[in-house]
Amino acid sequence: MSDAPVPQPGIMELTPYKAFAKPKRPGRLIRLMANEGALGASPKAIEAYKAAAGEINRYPESGSSTLTAALAKHHGLKPEQLVIGNGSDELIELLCHCFAGPGDEVIYTQYGFVMYPTCAHASGATPVKAQDDGFTASVDAILAKLSAKTKIVFLANPNNPTGTYLARSEVERLWKALPKHVVLVLDAAYAEYVERNDYSSGVELAETAPNVIMLRTFSKLYGLAGLRLGWGYGAPAVVDVLNRVHGVFNVNAAAQAAGVAALEDVPFQDRSKTHNRIWVPRIQEMLKTLGLEPQPTVANFMLVKVPEKLGKTPDQILAFCAERGIFLREMKTYGMVGYFRFSIGTEEENRILIDTLAECLRG
Ligand SMILES: *Cc1c(COP(=O)(O)O)cnc(C)c1O
Repeated sequence: MSDAPVPQPGIMELTPYKAFAKPKRPGRLIRLMANEGALGASPKAIEAYKAAAGEINRYPESGSSTLTAALAKHHGLKPEQLVIGNGSDELIELLCHCFAGPGDEVIYTQYGFVMYPTCAHASGATPVKAQDDGFTASVDAILAKLSAKTKIVFLANPNNPTGTYLARSEVERLWKALPKHVVLVLDAAYAEYVERNDYSSGVELAETAPNVIMLRTFSKLYGLAGLRLGWGYGAPAVVDVLNRVHGVFNVNAAAQAAGVAALEDVPFQDRSKTHNRIWVPRIQEMLKTLGLEPQPTVANFMLVKVPEKLGKTPDQILAFCAERGIFLREMKTYGMVGYFRFSIGTEEENRILIDTLAECLRG
C-alpha cells in the first residue's frame, strides 16, 4: 500500500484537457479551436454584464431563479424541470457523480465529446465506448453495449467534434430500447445552429420521459463561454437530484444577468445563425479548392481531412497556423489521424485562415 493519496481507478490514465494558453508573442489572435460563436457576445449581454459590476459584493440569486424564468419563457418550458449549471460541463460532472459510481458503466460514443469518459472516470465508474458508424453515432452500437451495470448513456447531438447528428426518430428508437432506470443525456450544445427538418434537440422527450435530460449551453451561439453558463431540462427524477447537489451559488451573478439579456437579444441570435448558414458552405468550397476534405456539419465547426498527397500532416498545418496566431484543434485526442477541427470565425478571420492554409500547403 502506497502512502500517497490514490484517486479513483482510471483517473491517472486521462489526458489533461489542453486549454488555450495565450502565446507570449504579441499580435492578433484568431481562436478557432473551441467552437465559440463567431460573432462574440450579444451587445445586450455585455451591457448586462457590466451593469452587474455594481453588485459584485452581493451573493448571486440562488437557484438562478430569474434566469430560470427567462429560459422557461423563451423556450416554452416548465421551470420546475430546469437546472442551471456553471457551464453544461458542471451538469455532465454532476450527472456522473449522482448516477454512476464504482462498478457502474457509462456509455458514450466513439467520437463523442471527451468530457463524458473523463467525468465517468472521475466518479469511479467505467466508461464504455460504442463504435460510431463512420463519424455518426450508432444507436445499434450503443444498445449492444447495454448491460445490467449501465447507468447513463451520453449522446451529443449534434456531436462535437464530428459535426454529425442523429435524426429525432433515431433518438426516440434509442430511448425506447433503454430501461427506464438508465439516464439518457442528450447534449444539444449546438442545437441552435441545426437547420434540418428531421432534427430535434430532444426537448419533447426531456419534458415527458421519466429518464431523459437535455443539456444546453450559452457558450456557443450565445457567445458567453467565458462566463460558464449552461442548463439542463428533463425528468424531475433527474433534475431534482442535480438541483439538490449543485452549489447554492454555482452560477455567478454576472453570468446570470448576461444570460437573461442574451436570451432576449433574438436579433443577435438570428445574425449568428445567418452568419453560420452562409459561411459553412462557403468555407467548405474554399477548403476543397486547396485539396482539403471538409466533412459535412450541421454545427458551427467542422472536421477537415488532410489527404496524404498534400504532403503536410495536420500537426504541421496546426503549427504553421499557430505561429501566425491562428489556433485550430488537433484531433489525436479523439483517436483521429489525418484530421483537424476548426470553428467558423468572422468573415475576416475565415479569409485569413484560408489564405494561411493556402500558404502552408504551397510551402
Ligand atoms: C462546448 C460543449 C459543451 C459545453 O459546454 P459549457 O456549457 O461551456 O460547459 C457541452 N457539450 C458539448 C458537446 C460541447 O461541444
